[in-house]
Amino acid sequence: MDFYLRCNSLKCRAPLKERAVVTTCSHIFCLHCAGSLGLSHPTANERACPACQAVLVNPDDAVATALNPTEDYKTSVLSGLDPNTIMECAGRALLFWTYQTTQEIFYQEFLAKTLTEKYTNLNTQMDKVVHNANSEISALQARISDMETAQDQLRKKNQELVDMYREKCKKFTQMTNLYNILKSRAMRSQMQTAATDTVSQALDSLTASRNHPTGLVPGHSESSRPPHTPMSRQLNTPGANTISLAQYRNIERVSWVSHALQLEEQHYRMTV
Ligand SMILES: [Zn+2]
Ligand SMILES: [Zn+2]
Repeated sequence: MDFYLRCNSLKCRAPLKERAVVTTCSHIFCLHCAGSLGLSHPTANERACPACQAVLVNPDDAVATALNPTEDYKTSVLSGLDPNTIMECAGRALLFWTYQTTQEIFYQEFLAKTLTEKYTNLNTQMDKVVHNANSEISALQARISDMETAQDQLRKKNQELVDMYREKCKKFTQMTNLYNILKSRAMRSQMQTAATDTVSQALDSLTASRNHPTGLVPGHSESSRPPHTPMSRQLNTPGANTISLAQYRNIERVSWVSHALQLEEQHYRMTV
């Protein structure tokens, strides 16, 4: 991996590959920053290093240099100098490089430390968030468990109420049937009493008809007689006792109602 010095302006830090401005205070800047920070074209009488604020009085305190020199430049730049000067120049250039790389290492260590602290803080926050989330999940799970238990109890209670309601409905049906049986018995008793009265009236009429040779019940003329039924025909045959049609219908109706009530009672007994 190629290593490049970087512009010493902390807002820039661009890698320097072609040309740069170097200072005698061992700082280096890109051409853009050197121009904007007043290093290449000083506005005041004195110019200062943007990095360390060192006053750069002499013209050669800040010079532009080619970072990829041509072979001709490499040949001619130190040519003609005596060996001590050559070694001094090389030594100062090496010190410049060492200072820049050391500063870069410090900067990277500072960045690493800052990022590590940020990472530690974020990790702590994340642990806290996870812990809180787990606590909340546990609380919600406990709540769900409690609610499920309560739901089971309510379901059980509901089932018991449903069973009780069915039992009550069954008893209500039985009571209704018993009431209907008793009611039909009472009605049948009343109908039997009415039938007995009607039969007594019929017998009284028969007794009265024997005392009248016409065989007709008073108040009933021949023309107003209703059509013959088998039983009335039998009752109207010569020599037989005669009763009125209304009386016969009363007896027949009582008989039918009594029979219907008996059937109804049998039905209720079966359902009970
Ligand atoms: Zn720069
Ligand atoms: Zn400086």
